[in-house]
Amino acid sequence: MKRAFLGLGSNLGDREAHLHEALRRLEAPRCRVLRVSSIYETAPRDLPAQPWFLNLAVEVETSLFPLMLLQHCLKIERIMGRRRTTPKGPRNIDIDILLYGQFKIDSAGLTVPHPRLHERRFVLEPLAKLAGDITHPGLRQSIRELLNGVKGQSLRLWHPPQQQPDPRPAGGATSSRPNRPSTLQSRS
Ligand code: AMP
Repeated sequence: MKRAFLGLGSNLGDREAHLHEALRRLEAPRCRVLRVSSIYETAPRDLPAQPWFLNLAVEVETSLFPLMLLQHCLKIERIMGRRRTTPKGPRNIDIDILLYGQFKIDSAGLTVPHPRLHERRFVLEPLAKLAGDITHPGLRQSIRELLNGVKGQSLRLWHPPQQQPDPRPAGGATSSRPNRPSTLQSRS
């Protein structure tokens, strides 16, 4: 059994529902979800003219070898109807393998640790909540150290752990959305 960390993101449709559906689908006979980070709402990178993302990190315990784990993730993206239209563009679900134990993998279809992990706050922030002390096997810095080195990328907590959305806010009206903190954090 190996421990792996995955990064999930969505910026189309009901983003939070997509993340939860992907988490449910990740559970499989050879892949068990152990821990899930808080969700963060994050500014798009690479292609700025698109909606903000929701991102989280998840720790899984798995007996799937790395390429099998990648197939598992890609199959979930496919089942959930992900279309690859614009490169780096909007997507209802994206699942990346961030870390697979302390393995370093560089094959045609798979690079682990994920090659852009160390420069993306939207990956490092949730990952640090689960794996802050884990060393990046290529860069020999902890995930927390890598996060501290990232500048100028906006994100905010979507809703903190334990805080469940109140479906009936004062006044009796129903809401399907959790309260969202308005703080915008940006490293400068
Ligand atoms: P994307 O369009 O960003 O979801 O890229 C998906 C493609 O990236 C997959 O078809 C994989 O072959 C490739 N890839 C390479 N390394 C990774 C990784 N660590 N996690 C997920 N996909 C990867």
